[in-house]
Amino acid sequence: MSILIRKVQLNGEVRDILVEGSLIKEINADLQMAAEIIIDGSGKAALPSFFNGHTHAAMVLLRGYADDLSLSEWLNNKIWPTEARLTEEDVYWGTRLACLEMIKSGTTFFNDMYWHFHGVARAVEDSGIRAAPSAVFIDLYDKSKAAEQIALNRRLFEESKRYSNRVLFALGPHAIYTVSKESLQWARDFAAENDVFIHLHLSETEKEVEDCIRQHGKRPVEYLHDIGFLGPQVIAAHAIWLEDREIELLEEHDVKLVYNPTSNMKLASGVFPYTKITDREIAAVLGTDGCASNNNLDMLEEMKFAALLQKMNSNNPTVLSAHDVFQLATAAPARVFNINSGSIEEGKVADLILVDLSDINLVPNHQLIPNIVYSGNGGCVDTTICDGKILMQNKRVEGEEEVLERAREVAFALTAS
Ligand SMILES: [Zn+2]
Repeated sequence: MSILIRKVQLNGEVRDILVEGSLIKEINADLQMAAEIIIDGSGKAALPSFFNGHTHAAMVLLRGYADDLSLSEWLNNKIWPTEARLTEEDVYWGTRLACLEMIKSGTTFFNDMYWHFHGVARAVEDSGIRAAPSAVFIDLYDKSKAAEQIALNRRLFEESKRYSNRVLFALGPHAIYTVSKESLQWARDFAAENDVFIHLHLSETEKEVEDCIRQHGKRPVEYLHDIGFLGPQVIAAHAIWLEDREIELLEEHDVKLVYNPTSNMKLASGVFPYTKITDREIAAVLGTDGCASNNNLDMLEEMKFAALLQKMNSNNPTVLSAHDVFQLATAAPARVFNINSGSIEEGKVADLILVDLSDINLVPNHQLIPNIVYSGNGGCVDTTICDGKILMQNKRVEGEEEVLERAREVAFALTAS
């Protein structure tokens, strides 16, 4: 398959972009060559597509189901009882809906933690995007549950080999308050042996830190360091309540962090210490978290909130510029997740979007990146390409009506029972 995007704005210049197979083959002012598909890029700008660093995609089924509650009440009384009824088919249609929303708003990768691994993985395959799905691993400090979870993850790892390279198996130990020390150590060893990521929630709330000090006599990052868990495979979501010594440990072990501003504000969890993190050599990326605490998967909206929250919190409008926050959703996660995309260059994988420059939010267009971050939203995206394949063109995704219909049915059945 070859695609020629003609006369598109790229970094302020009009360019032709040739995609062959999954790669960007050539970028030039005027490419006079044949291609199977020609896209008229005039009036549009090409940008790398977005990465969502932390989510629970199928939670889109619970969007708007339980709002304005405390994190513990929300999880214990609303989310977990409903999730206990989920089937693999529910998760499949929930994840299809999430993938559709992501494609429509320009995201082509998500780092996921959820139930029914194969429901997620099949939805990713069928939607044409990329993901690092992990099964929620919770043992509640119970040895037999831990053994079950370990056996399940070993099996899922083997079974995940049936999927394309757009599906990256990861381990998903939920958090230190739901997973035992022994299971965390097993995850560390399994991840090192098999070169997979470990995705967990870390220091999301002040309560988590207080409980950890009460239980282990130390703070969460110190605890994880002392049990030998920390390492470059670890992707830690939230990472809000960190002291300087903990930030040093995260840097020392090359742990990657995910900033989830909307969820953190909505659940009043706290503020990600962005300037302290980026003063050091620590990789940080951006995520939406699940739709029950966001309530959408629009990475452009997330970028805006990410920047505004840091400016407000530091009383400094120069902190986290539009260009820097754009990197947190493109080039930075491409490096973290080892995917050869995140920018539009010859030889890179063709994960890219075209935004409509006549969209009302982008007129006039003095500077594209600040414009799209502060004024734009996912609705400005006209075309989404992942792995060299067109997933959306002229804002249309093939089969979108069926996804909406099935997901709606599944969501109502789930919350009615
Ligand atoms: Zn989460």
